[in-house]
Amino acid sequence: MERTTCVVVGGGPAGIVLGLLLARAGVTVTVLEKHADFLRDFRGDTVHPSTMTLIDELGLWPRFARLPWKPIETTQVVLDAGSATLGDLRRLRRLGQPHPFVAMVPQWHLLDMLAGAAEEEPGFTLVRDAEVVDLRRAGGRVTGVRWRDRSSAGGAEHELAADLVVACDGRGSRVRELSGLPVHDFPVPMDVWWFRLPRGDGTGDPAGGIGRVSDGRLVVMLDRGDHYQVAYLIPRGADAAYRRQPVQVLRDDMRRLHPWLGDRVDGLRSWDDVKLLAVTLDRLRRWSAPGVLCVGDAAHAMSPIGGVGINLAVQDAVAAARYLGPLLACAPADPAAVDRAAARVQRRRWLPTAATQAAQRVAHRVVVRAVLGATAPTPGGDRLPAPLRLLRRVPALQVVPAYLVGVGVLPERAPMWARRGAQETGPQDAGAKNSSALPSGSVKDSAQP
Ligand SMILES: Cc1cc2nc3c(=O)[nH]c(=O)nc-3n(C[C@H](O)[C@H](O)[C@H](O)COP(=O)(O)OP(=O)(O)OC[C@H]3O[C@@H](n4cnc5c(N)ncnc54)[C@H](O)[C@@H]3O)c2cc1C
Repeated sequence: MERTTCVVVGGGPAGIVLGLLLARAGVTVTVLEKHADFLRDFRGDTVHPSTMTLIDELGLWPRFARLPWKPIETTQVVLDAGSATLGDLRRLRRLGQPHPFVAMVPQWHLLDMLAGAAEEEPGFTLVRDAEVVDLRRAGGRVTGVRWRDRSSAGGAEHELAADLVVACDGRGSRVRELSGLPVHDFPVPMDVWWFRLPRGDGTGDPAGGIGRVSDGRLVVMLDRGDHYQVAYLIPRGADAAYRRQPVQVLRDDMRRLHPWLGDRVDGLRSWDDVKLLAVTLDRLRRWSAPGVLCVGDAAHAMSPIGGVGINLAVQDAVAAARYLGPLLACAPADPAAVDRAAARVQRRRWLPTAATQAAQRVAHRVVVRAVLGATAPTPGGDRLPAPLRLLRRVPALQVVPAYLVGVGVLPERAPMWARRGAQETGPQDAGAKNSSALPSGSVKDSAQP
């Protein structure tokens, strides 16, 4: 039987950030990640201004600046009746945000960078190929985990005892299932297809984020430099029926929505190029039980609306480290005090989570359901909807959606004890510089759909 002070299950954004911060607090922490590396097909790739501020505070900006990322500064919405800028992140500079853009960075680069920084701390251990299969319990309390070594022939099982288990194992969390914590599921009207289309190297192709709404279709395209990452919304559960049609139907649809794409829609060679994201939106009613805490997607799976999942997962991790770090650093910690601190994490992060999910549910009801369910042109559809007309008339208001998505409700700041080195904020045009410095094809290396 091995022992650590805190075991973090899952090496995604929440788990790696939590491991890094706890290690900086002086805690002995072990992160168990079931995969051998961070390369994953299905991952979010957006790093928001508030996460970049945190990276600054942790003294990691110079490392982040070297990663291959591409800034997104504005989001346009294009309807048949016209277009409008929905959010302009550049306006966040006036609100004191040093990085007023969303950085599109392949998630494994971000995780590799953060894990590298964590491994410099003496108390940090990352075990890869380590899949948690069960919880250890004693006296009504979770006291550790059982994990399977996927790299060994036959998958040898091990036990790891800990003062606290933190579930950062994502929306299909095994730990939350084993803990029996009650979940509230919210209905969602859509699933999402993810695919890529080539982006021209000329200046004609739109930059940033482009939302297109027309005739029962809602498609978002994100400029990733040499390609667009496309999120195409379909009605919930419709994937199998749609895939019975030839993929040419989807190509024609994309060309109709964006005629400037031309024959680049042929980049979709077959349905294999189109990945399905089955959307879930849920939240634990209680995020902790004696000896165990859930954060990130394990506590609340987010809708893809706004692309805020990574940001919230990271913010949860910071809040958890703030309350638990100093306590666990004085091992052996009083179990009752650990459980009280774990409960405080939920109290601190409940409002940002619930408010963000409430906004996503409104967007599902008011926008997604209405658009995907449209069987006839909307009366008055020849005019932009009133909110978009207002954003066009008063551009200063574009900062509101930019703030809600880019910074969010009650953003977390790094605890003082976690900060390191000179806090480089980087040049204000770091994003543009970074993207122009990309080795050609580096974004293409991403397996992210
Ligand atoms: C296709 C797709 C696109 C997305 N796009 C975006 C986006 O653009 N922007 C955005 O902000 N969010 C996006 N999201 C959501 C975002 O990826 C998540 O909200 C975020 O990654 C949550 O972080 P997390 O650390 O809580 O969980 P995860 O990132 O899910 O990490 C969980 C980790 O736990 C590991 N794990 C799972 N089970 C076990 C186990 N039993 N034992 C050990 N390890 C385990 C997994 O391998 C994984 O590494 C997207 C999600 C998907 C699926």
